[in-house]
Amino acid sequence: IVRTRFAPSPTGYLHIGGARTALFSWAYARKHGGKFVLRIEDTDLERSTKASIQAIHEGMSWLELDYDEGPFYQMERLQRYQEVAQQLLENGQAYYCYASKEELEQMRQQQLAVGLKPRYDGRWRDSKQTPPADVKPVIRLKNPLSGYVSFNDLIKGKISVANQELDDLVLIRSDGIPTYNFSVVLDDLDMNITHVIRGDDHVNNTPRQINILKALDAGLPEYAHVPMILGANGERLSKRHGAVSVTQYRDDGYLPEALVNYLARLGWSHGDEEIFSREQLVEWFDLASISRSPAKFNPEKLHWLNQQYLKKTDSNRLAGLVKPFLSRDDCNFDQGPDLIAVIDLLKERVNTAEELADAAVFFFRPLEPSEELRQQFYTLESKTILSELLKKLIQLENWSRDAIHQAIKETVKEQGVKFPKVAMPLRVMVTGEVHTPSIDAILELLGRDETLKRMTVQMD
Ligand code: GLU
Repeated sequence: IVRTRFAPSPTGYLHIGGARTALFSWAYARKHGGKFVLRIEDTDLERSTKASIQAIHEGMSWLELDYDEGPFYQMERLQRYQEVAQQLLENGQAYYCYASKEELEQMRQQQLAVGLKPRYDGRWRDSKQTPPADVKPVIRLKNPLSGYVSFNDLIKGKISVANQELDDLVLIRSDGIPTYNFSVVLDDLDMNITHVIRGDDHVNNTPRQINILKALDAGLPEYAHVPMILGANGERLSKRHGAVSVTQYRDDGYLPEALVNYLARLGWSHGDEEIFSREQLVEWFDLASISRSPAKFNPEKLHWLNQQYLKKTDSNRLAGLVKPFLSRDDCNFDQGPDLIAVIDLLKERVNTAEELADAAVFFFRPLEPSEELRQQFYTLESKTILSELLKKLIQLENWSRDAIHQAIKETVKEQGVKFPKVAMPLRVMVTGEVHTPSIDAILELLGRDETLKRMTVQMD
């Protein structure tokens, strides 16, 4: 049975790149009827925060990346890491190293000075020295001194590293906390992970992790290292390229299914398919179709994709997303036009729930047009024309879209002007702007009283 995992370090928000790794791991497990495990790698005590753990949970549940087991926390497994380290010590596959920080730094400088790559020289590996009483030791792995570590990465192909390139890596720090490489290996082993799918910033760690597994006489999982996500300028995606936190997209009014679709297409593809559902992703997903080169993050494309989803989304659901934004914009959506009808009218024209709210504001409170629009549209001529229209609107028997349209048409005819001569100033008076859906539909929703009130106020 396939078992995959997502293993974030809770040291910040849930990053777009992390979410994509999670999505790929999740999709692979779902596709193969396997299990998806969540593990929080919280051993960096200084940088790990509760808020970050919260953001990971919120982001994953918003994107509906449901896991079957976990969350496991590494800090709850310290005993296990120590137990296995002891075992390795007893078998002679690991050893205590008492080198002090200063000593190691000195060694580093000396190696650099003669043009060597800094690397622990194994000074305590087979040492018979008496340990200094005042130094708390670390535990290091006895890395093989010769030969190669090789593995077949499911994305990158065969990778091979000479053992001479690797040094005796620290398994347990002097404070008793395991290093990333050691805890990851034991966790993946204990959690029976069959496929390690992660960012390729970890590809250099994999040979070290394999050597730990070999020392433990354990089998290897499959590895798939996913290329990074870059910003438009070719640098690694970061805050400088705009929002990179998953919850930020939620807060900006994006739809989770659009972000899932977008993330799936970042570095993975299924032919030319651009828009597909989560179910289709699961059906089509495979590791072989992950690109070997980095993907570029394109916020405009995500924006566009979001609009493709938004216009097909049920307006009742959109209402729930839009309300917080409307409240923020001082709109009382419990009064005035029916919010659902407003959303029906606007949703084809906007890209996000936030944009939808911005476009809806004028339905719930009058917006003052800019000075520029006033000068352009509030001419004496247009005021005369509109007061004629106003008379008709007051007398309309039926406040319907058709009747309103009829009244505008009649005014156009009687005044001998073109349609926009009536519709544009009317639009500006009632909505405060020029880019809106059709004016008769707006007036119908706004209602007679509110329409007449706004026209009268503006014509004063
Ligand atoms: N905790 C690691 C990170 O957030 C991931 C480790 C892994 O997937 O092996 O980068």
